[in-house]
Amino acid sequence: MFKWFVDPGHGGRDLGAVGNGLQEKNVTLAIAKKIKSIAEREYEGVQVRLSRSSDVYLSLNERTRMANSWGADLFTSVHINAGGGTGFESFIYNGNYSRKVQTDRVRFFVHDEIVNQTGFRDRGKKQANFHVLRETRMTAHLTENGFIDNASDASKLKFDAFLEKIARGHVLGAARAYGWKRKSSGGSSGGSGSSSSGTFYRVITGSFKNRSNAEKRQQELKKAGFDSFLDADKHKGETFYRVVTGSFKDRSNAEKRQGDLKQNGFDSFIDIYKK
Ligand SMILES: [Zn+2]
Repeated sequence: MFKWFVDPGHGGRDLGAVGNGLQEKNVTLAIAKKIKSIAEREYEGVQVRLSRSSDVYLSLNERTRMANSWGADLFTSVHINAGGGTGFESFIYNGNYSRKVQTDRVRFFVHDEIVNQTGFRDRGKKQANFHVLRETRMTAHLTENGFIDNASDASKLKFDAFLEKIARGHVLGAARAYGWKRKSSGGSSGGSGSSSSGTFYRVITGSFKNRSNAEKRQQELKKAGFDSFLDADKHKGETFYRVVTGSFKDRSNAEKRQGDLKQNGFDSFIDIYKK
């Protein structure tokens, strides 16, 4: 089970940013609830826990403590920006830490999918020393989804359908980063154009007869910041364990992953997988 901890920023007496008739704490909660329902409805083996599911105050410490004690695999803090500007930006922790390559890689996918889904102006992939990013013991990022004090951004944030796009961007990005499998029956409410069936381009970083050799490769990949999963493939009566380092609808994304792997010294090939 993949454990995704989603943290809607602010809450209760902490309104967050306000503007154009909106309060940040309400918008972040609406987005977080949508992330949970899309991810759990459409993907296999994904569980989402929210730091809050109502309008209550939580300290930053309580948020990170909850994620750490649950043993989350991924932490996403959802915010709305303010202070003059427009568009989307995201943050990872700016320190030196062992998970940084992996953290940046996951953020890369999530960031780009949100920009993709919303059409927000891309303000860039940033780093900062935020409590929720520094004190979490798992891959963590924070998203700033438009400016509440910008009339144009705020007018979009008032529409439920737009919040749905923001949420879907978060989910699609994480799904792509971790190679989640879509549920084969039902669930898809459409909107993104991606479907649970069709052709996938899978990046394979090794095929082994011996399972422990495949697991060794997985550990090497993990050290370099790449998540993978094993797929048992029967070939002429023999079982091979393939190390899958990404599964993509677009061939170009699979090729991009191959390039990243190559830079880290891993050769790979693309396997066309039909579901
Ligand atoms: Zn905020």
